[in-house]
Amino acid sequence: MKEIEIKCPRCGKVKTMNYKEAKQTVECPHCHFGFQLDKKTLSRQKWMTLLSTFLIILVISFVLTFTLRNANNTVLILILVLLGLVVAYVSNPIGAWLTFQFWGFSYEPKPKK
Ligand SMILES: [Zn+2]
Repeated sequence: MKEIEIKCPRCGKVKTMNYKEAKQTVECPHCHFGFQLDKKTLSRQKWMTLLSTFLIILVISFVLTFTLRNANNTVLILILVLLGLVVAYVSNPIGAWLTFQFWGFSYEPKPKK
């Protein structure tokens, strides 16, 4: 999936990262300012991830209904487990991608420990 550009809220320099990295806290390579996605963006991302998981499962079950009518149970369970792993792996970046396309990402300073 394509990389996105993130502008540091403190110094304005741009850092590129992929959608997986964008979920976590980010440290600006120029001024070392720590920041993270704000609560609004995180909750949008959570809902978009749920939505994409739901849609992927819907499409997969639809396809399976037509293609695996004669498969036995062991094969079916193996396929479902495999698909579950695939869905778990791709739904987060897709959720982040959708959030970015619709609203963009906004950041807040990382809280000090
Ligand atoms: Zn910076």
